[in-house]
Amino acid sequence: MFQKNQLVEVTIEDISDTGEGIGHVDGYTLFVGRAVPGDTVRARILKAKKTYAIAKAEDILVPAAGRVTPACPVAGSCGGCQLSYLSYEAQLKLKQKKVEDCIRRIGGFTDVSVLPIIGMDNPFGYRNKGQFPVGSITAGKAESGPSERKPVLGFYAGHSHRIVPTECCRMLWTGHEKVLAAVREYLLESGARPYDEETGRGLVRHVLMRYGAGTGEVSVCLVVNGRTVPKPELLWKKLQAVPGVVGLCLNVNTDQTNVILGRETIPIFGSEKIRDYIGDVCFEISPTSFYQVNPVQMKVLYDTALSYAGLTGSEVVWDLYCGIGTISLFLAKHAKRVIGVEIVPDAVRNAKDNAKRNGIDNAAFYEGAAEEVVPGLLNEDKEGLIRPDVVVVDPPRKGCEKSLLETILSMEPSRIVYVSCDPATLARDLRILSDGGYRLERVQPVDQFPGSVHVETVVLLGKITDGPKDYVKIGLDVEDYYKI
Ligand code: SAH
Repeated sequence: MFQKNQLVEVTIEDISDTGEGIGHVDGYTLFVGRAVPGDTVRARILKAKKTYAIAKAEDILVPAAGRVTPACPVAGSCGGCQLSYLSYEAQLKLKQKKVEDCIRRIGGFTDVSVLPIIGMDNPFGYRNKGQFPVGSITAGKAESGPSERKPVLGFYAGHSHRIVPTECCRMLWTGHEKVLAAVREYLLESGARPYDEETGRGLVRHVLMRYGAGTGEVSVCLVVNGRTVPKPELLWKKLQAVPGVVGLCLNVNTDQTNVILGRETIPIFGSEKIRDYIGDVCFEISPTSFYQVNPVQMKVLYDTALSYAGLTGSEVVWDLYCGIGTISLFLAKHAKRVIGVEIVPDAVRNAKDNAKRNGIDNAAFYEGAAEEVVPGLLNEDKEGLIRPDVVVVDPPRKGCEKSLLETILSMEPSRIVYVSCDPATLARDLRILSDGGYRLERVQPVDQFPGSVHVETVVLLGKITDGPKDYVKIGLDVEDYYKI
């Protein structure tokens, strides 16, 4: 058992899904911040539990192959780019291994080879979306009277809600710095009070900004604990001086919660939506709708999904977890009909508008949970008119509901394209689909998130025509894979 503040020497073997290096000493698991696989470090114990401890690397005794000095001044204190200590090549290797490990250990597929990960030429300045928490710091004490609180914008430190002040982020498109500077000035000049998470008092909680790489459009949204802000025209004036800004809106979040967005968005000036292009399809995106954060790799991802879908123009395609209809509309030109299902109402509205705007009339969108909407649609489809030839799923990190996978299996599409942002839940779901009668044809990792531990994967499954097999569990549970 370790003591707080104890120094321990440890070799890092793996990385957790939140970016800590994982190592073992005397049967204990150590989660070590600022350390990457291959490092041997002297780590200080920060928190000691019965079977594991949280620690921070103080000295690098033997550096991992590919270890570099991070280019970002807040690396290590900001909770964002956990892999900034590795060269991009080493980051890609690690992600490749992660996907291979999950496919083998969770999925239980020992005979499936994973294609080499597709990385970026320039792994910086790629993100099209930023969200910065707003807080305040004490800016020195006046001789008499209370200390003065100054607004700060930045990122949360890892595993905490302490704000690390930042003026820019190397992963975001470069124009974001001007937006941040404008909001910072506005907060100082307007007296709009930053929100205090502990007391639930104060007004401005977060600044969100989105950039359409294909159009140059930028939208800014302040998340506020209220419905108005003081002197909004002052902020709008400052933002109008920033190239590309098309609108300013408020998102109302009056709950004392760490969920960033509230339900209601109020446009104040201009348009709260931005437009962007994927290939030649134009999309409009609301502040609350999901949109891939890496426009360069998004195209790679969707091109891969399109080629895996193998469309000839006569297929019915279901795009489940469709967001604003990006994949649906990207595929629609090559298919007979596309049906998209999505849970967020704003996103479904965007999807329908996006279809109209692009003159796409063979795509329909349904609002609701895929696991509920899909069986409902199937029930109504007595003549089998919308029975899918291809099903695309692109779920959030927790993967697909088991019942949805079973419904997909019952529809017997000839191909399933699984787009995933979490290799562990992907591997779990692939096992179910595989045991239901599908063969893994291709597994293609795509690096959508340079600097972070996350990796996207596109998988093609083809129907095995000699009937489904019984479900036999082979791999580890996702929980056991991460078990300490
Ligand atoms: N395919 C889209 C969105 C993928 S992100 C794109 O590439 O842009 C996952 C999406 O699933 C999000 O839009 C989220 O709102 C939606 N979602 C989450 N749970 C869902 C569920 N149970 N049923 C349908 N959609 C869901």
